[in-house]
Amino acid sequence: MKILVVEDEAELAHGLIKNLELEGHIVELCTNLQTALITVENHFDIIVLDINLPDGSGLEVLRRVKRLHHQTGIIIVSARDSVDNKVEGLELGADDYLIKPFQFAELNARLKSLVRRVHFQGSEIITYHELEVNSSTLETYVNSTKVELTKREYDLLIYFLANKNRVLTKAGIAEHISKGYMDYGFSDDYIYTHIKNLKKKLLKSGCKDYIKNVYGVGYKFTDEN
Ligand code: CA
Repeated sequence: MKILVVEDEAELAHGLIKNLELEGHIVELCTNLQTALITVENHFDIIVLDINLPDGSGLEVLRRVKRLHHQTGIIIVSARDSVDNKVEGLELGADDYLIKPFQFAELNARLKSLVRRVHFQGSEIITYHELEVNSSTLETYVNSTKVELTKREYDLLIYFLANKNRVLTKAGIAEHISKGYMDYGFSDDYIYTHIKNLKKKLLKSGCKDYIKNVYGVGYKFTDEN
């Protein structure tokens, strides 16, 4: 996921970024309201938003995002004493609310359910024809028979399912999949090998070949020919 962190407390901001990158996300940081208002012109999957910013209220960011990209998921992080902000934030369309200080594990759990909402309409079971992925048990099935995938193959499959019918560049896939695995490079070979293995396992299980090679560019996950 592409995540924007809006947070002016340096220590917390850096902790957040480190944690989110380890979870495999691509993260950008804004430390004040003015920068955040400009940055959200770009699309993010999720925004982790502090309310008390040095130059104003994070709720303004929330208003703008809801107008520009209503699909974006928003988690507000705020101090314990700002109950009014919580109510207003949720009324304005924030998806969740975390009170500082919070555990990163708690944030990660909230993010996972938000990702399901943003990409898969809240369902833990993602289905595509004969293919079924359970995002809570991390299990994959083809025609109800379990397929054993490695963590990277599973991540790839989820990434494809979240980006159906879109051309994905090798570089984009590499960036997404390599995050959090510092022992691997971002090479095309690396991506090629994992996609080849994923394809092979799915085909062997009786799944149709949805991972199409787009010559010279990358891949597209689709049931079209
Ligand atoms: Ca703050």
